[in-house]
Amino acid sequence: MTSNRQISKSLIRKNFSNFESPKKPEWIKVTSFSKNLNLTASIVNDQRLTTVCEEALCPNISECWNKKHATFMILGDVCTRSCSFCNIQTGKPTDVDPFEPLRVAKAVRSLNLKHVVITSVDRDDLHDGGAGHFAQTISKIRDLNKEVSIEILTPDFKNKINAIDKIIKCKVDVFNHNLETVKRLYNEVRPGADYNNSLNLLNTFKLNSLNTFTKSGIMIGLGENEDEIVSLMDDLIENGVDFLTIGQYLRPSKNHYPVIEYHHPSYFDHLKEIAIEKGFKIVSSTPFTRSSYHADDDFEALKNIN
Ligand code: SF4
Repeated sequence: MTSNRQISKSLIRKNFSNFESPKKPEWIKVTSFSKNLNLTASIVNDQRLTTVCEEALCPNISECWNKKHATFMILGDVCTRSCSFCNIQTGKPTDVDPFEPLRVAKAVRSLNLKHVVITSVDRDDLHDGGAGHFAQTISKIRDLNKEVSIEILTPDFKNKINAIDKIIKCKVDVFNHNLETVKRLYNEVRPGADYNNSLNLLNTFKLNSLNTFTKSGIMIGLGENEDEIVSLMDDLIENGVDFLTIGQYLRPSKNHYPVIEYHHPSYFDHLKEIAIEKGFKIVSSTPFTRSSYHADDDFEALKNIN
């Protein structure tokens, strides 16, 4: 029988294995922490949950889990898209687990999170793209965790009717949808997605939730140029996005899109300055920035700015 992981291999993205990436520079060095790693892992495992920290091979896992911060990935661990940068399996997804929302809520309580980030795989097979499951998860988290603030990092829901309405009704604290890369690279890096649809999603959310923070993020080092990054910033500002994250793309394996360039930390500072000038309220821009990296601290900072 073919397992999902085998399916994912057979559907593997365009083969990039002939493309070499440059050697990792000395600043791409992960610091290890160990104190609470096992505790966080046991809470995640006891509740049989999936985290993007593990699935995406996030370089910050040791630091975040040491602080008992994990980002939960709902709706299974198999994605219906095949983005060339992403380590998450592609294939036929499993059935939606109706008990997952309660287990996420229990894990949030066990980890004593003050701010939780929930994300998901793309579920283009579902009539609402999984928006209803997001809503149920948010509801269960609130039932068990009265004080927690909630940030969601969603897929684009493929423009499915009513998906965004379901999300708007949840009244989350932060709505995040990543553009991931500049418009020109979508076909290679994010096939199956559409740059303008992603902007429309962010815009629709903001127009219907003026008091809720919106957030988006990109990876750099995929071959984009600065003009394209600046143009992307303009697009996000025009569509009401408050918070921008910029991180270095790291290639999960030889089969994935190659790193074209490792940018020096000073380049991230330079982009941050441009973004702040453009009008973003908060900008996180470092080689190790990821959507949910230090999301709790950034949310506190956002609240104080407003
Ligand atoms: S940055 Fe986000 S995805 Fe990475 S380990 Fe931290 S919480 Fe998990």
